[in-house]
Formats: sequence, C-alpha cells, structure tokens
Amino acid sequence: MTDRGYDIGLIAGDGIGPEIVGATVRVLCEVERAFSFELRMRPIDAGAATFLRTGRSISDEGLEVVVGSDATLKGPVGLPDARHADGTEAGLLGGELRNRLDLYANLRPIRRLPGVAAPLASADIDYLIVRENTEGLYASRGRGVGNDWVVTDTLLVTRPGTERIVRRAFEEARRRGGAPADGKSRVTCVDKANVLRSMYFFRQIFLEVAAGYPDVEAEFLHADAAAQALVLDPSHFDVLVMENLLGDILSDLGGATVGGIAGCPSGNIGEDCAYFEPIHGSAPGIAGTNTANPRGQMLAAAMMLDYLGETAAAGAVRDVVDGAFSDGSVETLPDGRVVGGADAVAERVVRRLAAGRPMER
Ligand code: NAD
Repeated sequence: MTDRGYDIGLIAGDGIGPEIVGATVRVLCEVERAFSFELRMRPIDAGAATFLRTGRSISDEGLEVVVGSDATLKGPVGLPDARHADGTEAGLLGGELRNRLDLYANLRPIRRLPGVAAPLASADIDYLIVRENTEGLYASRGRGVGNDWVVTDTLLVTRPGTERIVRRAFEEARRRGGAPADGKSRVTCVDKANVLRSMYFFRQIFLEVAAGYPDVEAEFLHADAAAQALVLDPSHFDVLVMENLLGDILSDLGGATVGGIAGCPSGNIGEDCAYFEPIHGSAPGIAGTNTANPRGQMLAAAMMLDYLGETAAAGAVRDVVDGAFSDGSVETLPDGRVVGGADAVAERVVRRLAAGRPMER
C-alpha cells in the first residue's frame, strides 16, 4: 500500500547515460516496493543528442518538468560532435539547469568506496565538497570574448552568491559528524586568494560568514596546496567550500583517491528545485561496451532519496550498492569499468534489496 508519492524528472543523458540511468531506475523500482512509496518518473528529452536533433539542449517544456518535479535524476550528457560555433561543447545542460534554475549548491561527497581498490585505500576518507554552482569562472560560459589573437573569460564572485554557498557549507558541517581524523566539524575555504582579487573577496566573505558559526572550525587553503593535502592528508577534511571550476577539478581528484570518479555522486540544489547526477561525464568511448559502472549514478539516486526525506531508503541503497561491490559479485576493473556493465550491477543490487539484506556485506 503506497502512501507517499513523488514526481521525478528523468534525464537519461548521452553516451553511457542511458545504460547507467536504466540500471538505476531498476533499483529504484525495487526500492519503491520495499519502502512503500511511489516514484512517478517523468522522462525529459535533454542533452547533446537532443541538441543535435533540435538545436536546443532542453526544451522549455523539459525545463518545466524539472521545475515542477520533486527532484530530477540526471545521467551524464555530452557528445564529441555537439559543438557551438565558438568550439565549446553544446548540450551540456550546466547553463540551462544550474544557472537558469539557480541551483547554486553543488554537493559532492567523497567517501571511501568499499570493494574498490583505491590508491589511498588505507586512509579514512569522508568529506563533502561544496562547489559554488552558478558563478566563478563558469559564469563566463557562452560569454568569453576574443578574436584570433586573444580570448578572455571572466571569473565572477558576488557577495550574495558567496554568502549563500558559504552558509550552506557551514550548515552541512553542522549536520555531519566531523572530520575522520579528529571528529571536529570543520569548513575549509579553498581559493587562490594569494593571486586573484576575486578569490580574496571570496575568502573575506567566508570569514564574515564563519563568524556566525563558532561551533565549526574555519580554515583556508590555497587550491594548489589543497590538491596535495587531499592526497596526503584526506582524513583532515570534513567540508570544503570553493569556487565553481576549482570544485569541478578537485572533486575529480578526490574521486580518484577513493577508487575513481565512476563511483561518485553529486546533487545540484537550489531553494526549491534539485537534480542529482554522477560527477563523471558521458564516457562516450565505452558506451555500448557493457562495461559502464553505474555506482555514481545509483549513489546519486540515494542522495535524491535523502533530499526527498526518504532517508531509510537512501541508506539502504548505499548499503546494497556497497555490499554488491564488496562481496565479490561485481568485478571492478582498475580503470573503474565493471565486468558485465550497468545491468549486471543492477541485477546484484536488486537481488540484495529483494532478499532484504541491504546491510550484509
Ligand atoms: P568522463 O568522465 O566522461 O570520462 C573520463 C574517463 O573516465 C574515461 O576514461 C571514461 O571512460 C571513464 N569513466 C567515466 N565514467 C565512467 C563510468 N561510469 N564507468 C566506467 N568508466 C567511466 O570525462 P570526459 O571524457 O572528459 O568527458 C566526456 C563527455 O562528458 C564530454 O562531452 C564532457 O563535456 C561530458 N561531461 C558531462 C558531465 C555531466 O553531464 N555532468 C560531467 C563531466 C563531463
């Protein structure tokens, strides 16, 4: 008997997107049954293939579905042939979804992934990257100016945009259990305040906001030093907040330390709209080879369930996915691909859920 229902926008994406989203929907169908709620899937035609076919990466109606849904699950998008006249890629959706819908917080949890051989397997890693999602250097998307000799892009930092993302980082720190190394709640501001005026401004606002959170430790680190520290001392970190481009790059670095970006999810969250996706791209080179790893997409679905308030179901998805990768039934290759592909993983995960043994490893 179903007593709770949610409208879910569904973007299958490009490349491996349809494979990993399809596998994730199979898992969600089982979750619905197990936890007695309904997910009403509302497919949305969007991405690079849509751009090639229609000249737009998403239609107005598609955007309305994202806005009108309780949450949206999105696969990765992008195809090598989908290009704007200036050479940048078309169909990526970042500008359409993140900027037009003002989804300013990009939350990227990086935690040790059970069952995967990782370069830093011995380290206790569990931190959250809070990436500013609507400003920074990517605010220049589609606006760079130049000619045959010179091209410039502009890095945008505003006071309200920085205040809200830094506040979000401190609020997330209050919700979490602290850094693995010492249990302390901590927010690290990552920037290049030593070089760029925009980033010095970001840091000043960070300090102003931090003053309102005396229970959370505040510190800052230059981005180059942060890249080293995330490899050499990852257990020190709890929450990190940073500009858009830095967050994009450092979250992939973080993903590599726990076994690869294929296993890492993210949420793009605004005031009353959100979508969830893996941090990786559409990997067009391996599409159709039956090796796509759906772990990041499935964990993105778990983040979405948390956002919807279905925390028990979210925890169960994380547990069954971790369990399927840990008990030897899913074979992960050193480059992050999986033997049998997304469907084979879905099979194992669904079997665990149906057997009601999500916690068993
Ligand atoms: P990518 O993340 O697609 O691939 C990087 C490497 O990781 C490749 O070797 C790929 O095969 C592998 N990989 C990625 N995800 C995997 C998975 N789930 N299973 C197994 N292997 C996986 O990055 P890229 O090659 O730089 O970009 C490809 C396309 O994706 C581009 O069009 C890019 O613009 C787009 N992109 C989209 C998003 C998004 O939709 N949010 C994010 C990043 C890149």
